[in-house]
Amino acid sequence: MIPVTKSFLPNRNAYNLLLDEIWESGWFTNHGKMERRLNDELKSFLGVSNIMLTNNGTIPLQLALHVLGNEGEIITSPFSYIATSSSILWEKCKPVFVDIDADYLSINELKIEAAITSKTTAILVTHIFGNPSNVEVIQSIADKYNLSVIYDGAHCFNVIYKGKSIFEYGDVTTTSFHATKLFHTAEGGALFTKNTTLLEQFKLAGNFGHTDYYEISALGINAKLSELQAALGLAMLPEVKSIIEKRKQLVDLYKSKLNWDFFRTIRIRDNTEWNYSYFPIIFQSETQLNKTLNLLNSHDIFPRRYFYPSLNTIPIFPYVEMPVSEEIAKTIICLPLYDQLSTDSVNHITNLINSSLH
Ligand SMILES: *Cc1c(COP(=O)(O)O)cnc(C)c1O
Repeated sequence: MIPVTKSFLPNRNAYNLLLDEIWESGWFTNHGKMERRLNDELKSFLGVSNIMLTNNGTIPLQLALHVLGNEGEIITSPFSYIATSSSILWEKCKPVFVDIDADYLSINELKIEAAITSKTTAILVTHIFGNPSNVEVIQSIADKYNLSVIYDGAHCFNVIYKGKSIFEYGDVTTTSFHATKLFHTAEGGALFTKNTTLLEQFKLAGNFGHTDYYEISALGINAKLSELQAALGLAMLPEVKSIIEKRKQLVDLYKSKLNWDFFRTIRIRDNTEWNYSYFPIIFQSETQLNKTLNLLNSHDIFPRRYFYPSLNTIPIFPYVEMPVSEEIAKTIICLPLYDQLSTDSVNHITNLINSSLH
């Protein structure tokens, strides 16, 4: 069976050595030495000013909305994973969808201003599949209307835009280290901000509001990453560069073998060093998508319809028509892409896809 992704399995000896250290210390969570070590290593690996590790990639979205004091309306993209928009509702704000760009698949920045009202407080959008949103235009709109900018960078591990980490843009960027992501700690995530005052507020809010053992100075929640999870990340980090290189080779092979008369892929923004986190193809019709998907499934190959359906059509949100996002959601799949995927498998998959066309 070939699934859309398989979790990377870090070297067991490397992980066992770290587990030995945890057993010796008897310390399993609450900002232990594994967490501090992962914090420091990620900071230099990614080249970011600050990082706060968290227990998943959803909690930092909620923390960002909470700590920035946002209420009212939050502008967001309908083409993402549900967590991006459900966090807005969870924090008792109102998601206001703005349609996406058909090529880049991120929010169409030219449509943002028309959606701003006196109640708008923030823009929260996803750098979809690791492809940077138009951060310059988004920042200038935010400056003009005094809005916060929060990026969901769940797909963006090691993405560089204009010479610096994509995590350095906006007021806050969040990411996920879920087992299906390019770099993972089974469950985990992080929050990035260049603003050190904000960082302290996030740390406070992510640790129940504790300033010390007995003193609580703010409303907080539990966002802590455990030592076992941090150790998993430490065991994996030395292998990430070669994982990305392997994924690049697989994507290049897909690109060279597929018959591009029948579909297209995402357009990556100029000046981006991409991370090959996902490989989407966009069909000309849903009928063609189903035909191809059925053939692949019958050969035990399971790409995923990422992201489907378009978030604005999910009944927890009031429906507002988003033609581009709805059309893309119906015609896009992500092809299998993971470290252990063989070039033979990619050849097999592309042959099947090509034979399913027209
Ligand atoms: C995976 C993902 C999340 C959620 O991350 P978790 O670690 O599973 O909580 C949020 N946004 C996007 C775009 C994602 O892909």
